[in-house]
Amino acid sequence: MAKKHNYSAGPCILPDSVFKEASEAVLNFNGIDLSILEISHRSKDFVAVMEEARSLVKELLNLPSNYEVLFLQGGASLAFLTTAYNYLPEGGKGAYIDTGTWSSKAIKEAKHCGSVDVIASSKESNYNHIPTGYTVPSDADYLHFTSNNTIFGTQFQDFPSHENLICDMSSDIFSREFDASKFTMIYAGAQKNMGPAGTVLYIFDKDKLGKTGRDIPSYLDLGVHLAKDSMFNTPPVFSVYVSMLTLRWMKEMGGISAIQARNDAKAELIYKAIDENPLFTGHAQEDSRSKMNVTFRLTDDSLADDFNKLWQDAGINGLKGHRSVGGYRASMYNALPIESVKVLTEVMDEFARVKA
Ligand SMILES: *Cc1c(COP(=O)(O)O)cnc(C)c1O
Repeated sequence: MAKKHNYSAGPCILPDSVFKEASEAVLNFNGIDLSILEISHRSKDFVAVMEEARSLVKELLNLPSNYEVLFLQGGASLAFLTTAYNYLPEGGKGAYIDTGTWSSKAIKEAKHCGSVDVIASSKESNYNHIPTGYTVPSDADYLHFTSNNTIFGTQFQDFPSHENLICDMSSDIFSREFDASKFTMIYAGAQKNMGPAGTVLYIFDKDKLGKTGRDIPSYLDLGVHLAKDSMFNTPPVFSVYVSMLTLRWMKEMGGISAIQARNDAKAELIYKAIDENPLFTGHAQEDSRSKMNVTFRLTDDSLADDFNKLWQDAGINGLKGHRSVGGYRASMYNALPIESVKVLTEVMDEFARVKA
């Protein structure tokens, strides 16, 4: 049976080779005649998985030696709160750029800890662009932003700067090269570009940790997890294992620069199809377009049933847009092959021909 062309926004497509190896490990991991799911997280076989996953992240992102990597639970949603606990001193202030649903949630959670200053927002235009022309107050303890807006299909093309820059990179980490040394902390839920749901990646400059003077509950304290090498409690072993396999795959593919070239080619194909086809229009402003999540709609909604039938018949899955934007969303994470993008753009071209 041919696999579907999977545009799911998350959890999402992973490389076929990863699915295959992961399924074998469920039955017999490393040839030890036990499943990865039934061994101790403190066994040498699993500790090696955790350590390889952490070191692959350091290697792929070229992290400076003072940067550390953890694989925790609670998703990016708990990271919204963890961020504030670890970087917002009592009486301090976090500056936030509001570029969509996930930034708004990050803002809401940070308010549990202290004062939040929303310094820019594109809410008025249904988040169709990345705001520019803002200033960060001089007394802000950190600047938080969401590099890629999974729901609205916008992406920072250049990053803001701040001495304490914090970023939710859930939906575009490992998709393009960037200078990680400019960030105090980065977090990313696994299920958009790295692995299955169940783990969230934290990357941080360990020299900047533990400066808030707060009494932090253990699970929310990155210092506690670091002291235990990401094994403070039972880690999500299978998510970490499959993430490690995907990280290995990224390295085999030639690393992030090679992945970025693939992603650029995919994005060029689909945006060309949207721009040249009179039946479709994009949601995001051109200067803010995401290469991971492409949001678009029909210029005539009455054609939706016909278009939906065409792409479903072509074996495409997960193209329906998020309810807050409507239309369609093509999520094109690292593992989505360019062949799948060609199938979609051919369906769009074919649709224009039959409706002409
Ligand atoms: C999906 C997503 C989240 C939420 O992640 P969970 O792991 O489900 O908590 C947060 N931020 C961004 C940018 C996302 O795409």
